[in-house]
Amino acid sequence: MRKRGRASVSFPRFWILHDVIYTDDVRLGGQVSLFGPWTRIKIHPKYKDDIALHAHEAHHIAEHWATYWTHYFRYKYSPTYRLNSECAAYAKQWHTTPNADGETREVFARYLLTHYDLIRHFSDGAIRRSFAISLGEKTNTKTAAKRT
Ligand SMILES: [Zn+2]
Repeated sequence: MRKRGRASVSFPRFWILHDVIYTDDVRLGGQVSLFGPWTRIKIHPKYKDDIALHAHEAHHIAEHWATYWTHYFRYKYSPTYRLNSECAAYAKQWHTTPNADGETREVFARYLLTHYDLIRHFSDGAIRRSFAISLGEKTNTKTAAKRT
């Protein structure tokens, strides 16, 4: 592992070439920088050992390639795309979190509700329903609608 200032770099970590740096210059715990074939995961140092967060960010890189590098624009301009993208990434993170439980699930749901500018476009129930679908759960639309 090389050292570059405060950040250390190692690659590749996941299925596609990218590097990972650890820096406190992140909005939440982690984020990705995407520019064509150049991709980077930035993770806050306190989450350095959080493999599930790395998996979350790696999912966005996979989306970047799956959308022929248009992920950034879709994510920025389409609330529906952003909702699906984050629900899938949090589902990946939940499935990768050791001993993830209902509490973990609720923490992730709250992140979906309070960040990403989604609540302006979708109801609480719609966001939770979308997350449940990403987690592979069966959803009862009547029950989900009551939560709104
Ligand atoms: Zn994300």
